[in-house]
Amino acid sequence: MDNNLKRTIIVTGGSRGIGRSICLAFADKNTCVFFNYLSSERQASLTEKEINDAGGFARGIQADMGSEQDLEKFFKGAMDETGRIDVLVNNAGMTKDSLLPRMKSGDWDRVMDVNLKGAFICTKLAARPMMRQKSGRIINITSIAGIAGNPGQANYSAAKAGLVGLTKTTALELASRNITANAIAPGYIETGMTEGLAESRTSEIIARIPMGFAGTPQDVAGVAVFLASDAARYITGQVIHVNGGLYT
Ligand code: NAP
Repeated sequence: MDNNLKRTIIVTGGSRGIGRSICLAFADKNTCVFFNYLSSERQASLTEKEINDAGGFARGIQADMGSEQDLEKFFKGAMDETGRIDVLVNNAGMTKDSLLPRMKSGDWDRVMDVNLKGAFICTKLAARPMMRQKSGRIINITSIAGIAGNPGQANYSAAKAGLVGLTKTTALELASRNITANAIAPGYIETGMTEGLAESRTSEIIARIPMGFAGTPQDVAGVAVFLASDAARYITGQVIHVNGGLYT
């Protein structure tokens, strides 16, 4: 099938973790999956290869979420290939933790740029073709930290709370064009982002999860696929919590 007849899915941060699972969950013979990453070139090629080997189409591009120029190039590449954007998943994220009195302004700025401003730029870049098409799905990966706060993560939780506001405003502005915008707020999910935590901290978090175990990237990816499906056509401006009951 010609690529411009396929559904175009853009996922930020698709080389590892939740983003990689989202790319795999969307990939099939009727979709073109474009994702970016920061520096994990080898892991990005593995994601790309796994999808292409299974008969799908995937392309991973190095593009820093903190660079508007990089993101413009990333989106232009996708538009040149298929001429449309059906689904945008703003997933890329990073942390630079420290307690607030010791947090450096540079760490605040970088976390806001990557987690929030990058998502704003991608939303802008996707909105135009989606408005022309009169259809589109925007899914923002926020966090339990953006809803409940988390000591040591003033920058990250502020950025993730900002994503909730961005989601709701996007939903209101674009609803009349048949474009939905929703957020997914994962709790504790086993990925590279959480594997750096001390074992004692991990056990302490898991002990607080009512379901008693950590989530997997697939638990989040399944919700993203649902939100992009026809079954979710009337859901917009919502935050879906995927956390085993850790925050209700
Ligand atoms: P992860 O395993 O650390 O993967 C992060 C992904 O984002 C990677 O693909 C990484 O690319 C990409 N990325 C990071 N900074 C980037 C930048 N400046 N430019 C472009 N790409 C960048 O993280 P994860 O756990 O899968 O998290 C995915 C999303 O879920 C994030 O938004 C995170 O905040 C959110 N989340 C995660 C959890 C959790 O428990 N894991 C909980 C709540 C919310 P490289 O591979 O090149 O570094």
